[in-house]
Amino acid sequence: MTAAQARRVWAAVVPAAGSARRMGFDKILARIDGVPVLTRTLLLLQGAGLDHIVVGVKDAEHVRSLALAPFGLDAVTLVAGGETRSDTVRRCLAHVPPGTTYVLVHDAARPYCSAHLIRQVMAVAEESGAACAALPIVDTVHRSRTDGCIAETLDRRNLWSAQTPQAFRLDLLAAAHAGVPGGTDDAGMVATLGSPVHVVAGEAPNIKLTVPADMPESTIPDVPFAVGLGHDIHRLVPGRRLILGGVEIPHPRGLLGHSDADVLTHAIADALLGAAGLGDIGQHFPPGDPAYAGADSLALLARCRDMVAAAGWRAVQADCLILAESPRIGPHASVIRDKLATVLGIDPRRLNIKAGTNEGLGSLGRGEGIAAQAVVVACRTAASSPG
Ligand code: MG
Repeated sequence: MTAAQARRVWAAVVPAAGSARRMGFDKILARIDGVPVLTRTLLLLQGAGLDHIVVGVKDAEHVRSLALAPFGLDAVTLVAGGETRSDTVRRCLAHVPPGTTYVLVHDAARPYCSAHLIRQVMAVAEESGAACAALPIVDTVHRSRTDGCIAETLDRRNLWSAQTPQAFRLDLLAAAHAGVPGGTDDAGMVATLGSPVHVVAGEAPNIKLTVPADMPESTIPDVPFAVGLGHDIHRLVPGRRLILGGVEIPHPRGLLGHSDADVLTHAIADALLGAAGLGDIGQHFPPGDPAYAGADSLALLARCRDMVAAAGWRAVQADCLILAESPRIGPHASVIRDKLATVLGIDPRRLNIKAGTNEGLGSLGRGEGIAAQAVVVACRTAASSPG
């Protein structure tokens, strides 16, 4: 590596404070296969070898909890964005670390860019000072008069549709932002100041997610509340303690299982994970894993609560049903409720414990086991910024 190469320090600047009016929901936090759009973009930049990443956002705490922390993106710098895209880029530029020599600007809503294109744009910028990914225009382009009629047909051979990434020597981009207020495209702003900006062939899949039709079908707009369902059943056997909701209940038989077999706590944990879209406890705490032999299920529930919190959710209400021919649950219900409410961090008045028999029907009716069901309502831990 030459001395000149050694001096190159790259920062990515990602404007992500837009209002997404054409999308109608907060597109950068919308999930594609469970991963927020912004997270996908940042992982891409990280993978392409950017030294630092600075993101301009509306609500830093919200973005950190939903799109950064659960995905290990702790080194990303979040900056309060501005009213316009160029305001946001300018604020980000003020936060690139000292020693930064080059800046790559990339739209938060372009998660389909290839690492190859990013590196290509960076390489051209290192050679020439400024580079911009762009696609040749394939349609014929007309310029119209004020009356709406065609005034002229442009020569499309020299027309390009700008994409990001765009990359610049820091001093060129900083000068453009100081000298061309209100620009909507960084490459255009740098070119306006007279610096050559080299066009790098962009990629058709590298679209900017703009309207709902751009989102894949797997995208689920963020919602403020979510509901999860849990169900569990364990066999009753002699020689085991009976634990329900973390409370030991005197009984000649107990539930059989790898952990303490607390069927109620398992159902609640599954409902909680389900509300946050995090699968089920079997995935996170495999039944054969010796680490969970005889495990205290309340401790597992606490870990589920923490995982759900990391994903940006918290339980606010639960309704639970225990199905058992015996023992009677009623006398223990309030102790169980208080214990579970403490672990979940919810008001005990929002946690309802019901119990019933199976009317003598089937295996539950013969007292061969105990089943439990739970529904949990979870809410987002920070207000979701609308569209
Ligand atoms: Mg279980």
